[in-house]
Amino acid sequence: MTFRAKQSVRRFILGTAALACACAGTLSAAAAPANLAYDKPAPTINPKLTALSKAMQPKVYKVSNRVYVAVGYGDANSTMVIGDDGLIIIDTTESLTSGRAVEAEFRKISKLPVKGIIYTHHHMDHLGGAAAFVQPQDAMSGKVTVISQADTMKLLASSETAKANPLFTRDIMTARFAYMFGAYLPKGPEGVVNNGTGPAMVAGPVGLVPPNKLVDDTLDVTIAGVRLHIVRTPGETDDAISVWMPDLKMLATGDLLMGETFPNLYTLRGAEIRNPITWYRSIDRVRAFPAEYLVLSHGRPALGRDKVASVLTNHRDAIQYVHDQAVRLMNKGYGPDELAAAISQLPPHLRDDPYLAQFYGSVSSSVRQLYASYFGWFEGDPTTLNLLPPKDRAQRNLALMGGEAHVVAEAQKALAARDYRWVADMLTDVIRVNPSNMNARKLKAQALRQLGYAEVNANARNWYLTSAQELEGAPLQIQNDWFRGVASPQARVAQFNAMPGRAIIGLFAPRLQAERTLDVHKTLAFVLSDSGDQAGIEIRRGIAEVYTQAPPSPDFTVSTTKAALARLAAGDTTLAHLIESNAATVQGDRQGAETFMSYFDPPLKDWSDLHFTTR
Ligand SMILES: [Zn+2]
Repeated sequence: MTFRAKQSVRRFILGTAALACACAGTLSAAAAPANLAYDKPAPTINPKLTALSKAMQPKVYKVSNRVYVAVGYGDANSTMVIGDDGLIIIDTTESLTSGRAVEAEFRKISKLPVKGIIYTHHHMDHLGGAAAFVQPQDAMSGKVTVISQADTMKLLASSETAKANPLFTRDIMTARFAYMFGAYLPKGPEGVVNNGTGPAMVAGPVGLVPPNKLVDDTLDVTIAGVRLHIVRTPGETDDAISVWMPDLKMLATGDLLMGETFPNLYTLRGAEIRNPITWYRSIDRVRAFPAEYLVLSHGRPALGRDKVASVLTNHRDAIQYVHDQAVRLMNKGYGPDELAAAISQLPPHLRDDPYLAQFYGSVSSSVRQLYASYFGWFEGDPTTLNLLPPKDRAQRNLALMGGEAHVVAEAQKALAARDYRWVADMLTDVIRVNPSNMNARKLKAQALRQLGYAEVNANARNWYLTSAQELEGAPLQIQNDWFRGVASPQARVAQFNAMPGRAIIGLFAPRLQAERTLDVHKTLAFVLSDSGDQAGIEIRRGIAEVYTQAPPSPDFTVSTTKAALARLAAGDTTLAHLIESNAATVQGDRQGAETFMSYFDPPLKDWSDLHFTTR
């Protein structure tokens, strides 16, 4: 690793340590055997989701004499491979709490030292528990081989695979995350049942161990006498890798298969398109290996040559089916809504594959996303090029439909007829025009609840039930310790502080209040004493040009530290506070510099202020 890479790893570890402080009330390792999913049947839960929860009981599965996989101790699995004189751990679950619970179980099977760690990709549910298995210094010294794809650390720092800076949309993405994972819902029959991929995210401090051996496309390496052939298999993420162990006939695919579920080609929280062609070709790459054992990083292992082959083949076929049939219908002129109506299920032989139920990914969501990825938003009817604004349209529609009271009365009838999708739809305009119509809101909430109760897709269930809560007017309160950590102000400061100073400056640009600055033309320079960065922002009539070096002829120069700048960007402090506490000094007009910084929106304080159903 280069010095710079080491620095960024150190920063990251410090950042995640800070995150840990925000996660109060962690589960204890001793409580591990309890199923983290809700697994009791209820009329408010689709029986298939209950069955999936039952399959998520914490258990270490013996795959072969040398391979064990821990399922159900966290959202993701961890796999142990027993070599001649040491262990290899593939993925480490999301936190030290879940990682330690797994490590304790593995130690009942083998006392050999851990000689290798493999991260299959950069998502935190695969990395966060690493320090439960090895010490970071043993990775830094090279005593333990820690393998990841070459881009994994970079992607981890920005937390998604998007080419646009995902930190620009951190606020809204976090709010969407809360709806999708049911962060405002209790666990149980009226709330969260499982995550679709695994039972639940386990809260706790994160213990990252930096990689010291990077894979570009392929890597052949022997650890503890076990031959590993590692191949890059992009799909869910660009940095995904799979591990083939020819002597053990064992294949580990990370999230190339996302568990016992159709994959998330699209995720409701929002992400760039995950290319389906790339994805199924990656599965083809590993289908070439004569595997007898398949371990995934979510869900139970598949055993036996025929079973492994059918799981892999059906998975890639399901992805190709969805892609190809969507494209076929697009070529006949179908738009996204028509695609979703036409393609909501896989063909029977794939639909009935227990590894392909739509617990996490959804076929109809995927085909909509495919439309967007090929064409963007425009479907071809120019009416939509210049529609009336939403509220205006809603008002006119409502008048045509006979007014609020009439629509609410019709919705009542439709609810009695269990026509839930229609109830939810027809009340949208009523609520848009008159958000305080509690009759309408409660009716729509009832409809959404019924849709949620029937759902097999965990993400959609959580979203329906959260929106119902929103409509009923109850305050949205975080119920989930893991999300509480993610959404904490400390997490935001830690995440920003893990970035280079020049990159932190870039976060300000899309927060500029253009309407206040149409006549402003000023430049502010930052000098960061701790990181040595110089950077700046020029506000020029409604845009903020970012300089990643000292800007020419600044009107103000602010000298501070990168840590203080991270707090400023995170909305944890103001320039005035930094100056008053001697954490920053200004060269030039101090008042002018404070006004300059006031032109930028602060980040969101409270996620529950962001609503999606009552806008
Ligand atoms: Zn995962």
